[in-house]
Amino acid sequence: MEAVIIDGKKVADEIRAELTVRIAALKERSVTPGLAAVLVGDDPASQIYVRSKARACEKIGVHSEVIRKPADITQDELMSIVRELNGRDDTDGILVQLPLPDHIDEMTVTLLIDPAKDVDGFHPYNVGMMLLGHPTLLSCTPHGIIELMRSYNIDPAGKEVVILGRSNIVGKPLGVMLLQKAEMANATVTFCHSRTTDLKSVCRRADILVAAIGQPEFVTADMVKDGVVIIDVGQNRIEDETAQKGYRLVGDVDFEACRKKASYITPVPGGVGKMTIAMLLSNTVLSAERRAGHLR
Ligand code: NDP
Repeated sequence: MEAVIIDGKKVADEIRAELTVRIAALKERSVTPGLAAVLVGDDPASQIYVRSKARACEKIGVHSEVIRKPADITQDELMSIVRELNGRDDTDGILVQLPLPDHIDEMTVTLLIDPAKDVDGFHPYNVGMMLLGHPTLLSCTPHGIIELMRSYNIDPAGKEVVILGRSNIVGKPLGVMLLQKAEMANATVTFCHSRTTDLKSVCRRADILVAAIGQPEFVTADMVKDGVVIIDVGQNRIEDETAQKGYRLVGDVDFEACRKKASYITPVPGGVGKMTIAMLLSNTVLSAERRAGHLR
């Protein structure tokens, strides 16, 4: 068997095209969706993420603003910025790029963001609503994975889904979304982590295996059963002298070996990563539509 390669770029482009129509409708009502990103310090990866988010906004007509602050910003100063953005009518989405410097308490900052503008879907209000199965702003990467599966008619209902990784931004929310009594859900979910014993036999049970652990090419062909659907969330840089940048990006899955056993597989790059920003834009547009509804 040779797997169908799930094309994250194609699905993300389709979502963006649909958002463009919704943005045009908003602009007819004099509403331009706006996203404000707060970037603290000069972490190179965070700078790249924020820049690509801003560029993605501009491409589809979402107003974007990047607020850059030095790493020694105080907690109070950062909180004032968030308070100001909470109160601004031209800002539908606020994202504070993580990680923050050690002297800043991330949870305190996250709690302060207006849940209606929490386009990352990290605020405990939104996480709680998601857990209870109510419509809300969903965390972007897990939501993107569900939209990828929808696009390829991979219905998780009744399937055994094994998720490697239990982080608050990927593993846990994805498992909870797939567990819901709802469409594109109703799965039987198993979470694995660094303390899971006999990981291989748990993985081999999976109809759908999601790898989100940050370990390059950790999932090997002997860990999966024939016909499995593999979703690779990992983004790992490994040294490669032949590459222009001196490194290349690989996932958490041995792609070449696993594609021979899987029915569907996401590549890295070009899979899940493409969806995360698309879902961030989607949340920003949704938040702007709610604002427009209030203006009615
Ligand atoms: P975290 O580091 O927050 O969590 C990693 C999880 O993997 C933890 O639960 C950890 O277990 C578990 N884990 C680590 N090593 C093993 C192992 N050997 N066996 C079993 N479990 C293990 O990572 P994130 O969730 O933030 O990210 C995971 C990966 O996904 C990274 O490569 C990241 O770059 C990528 N990512 C990609 C995104 C995208 O848009 N494509 C978005 C977000 C992340 P424990 O809890 O026991 O420590």
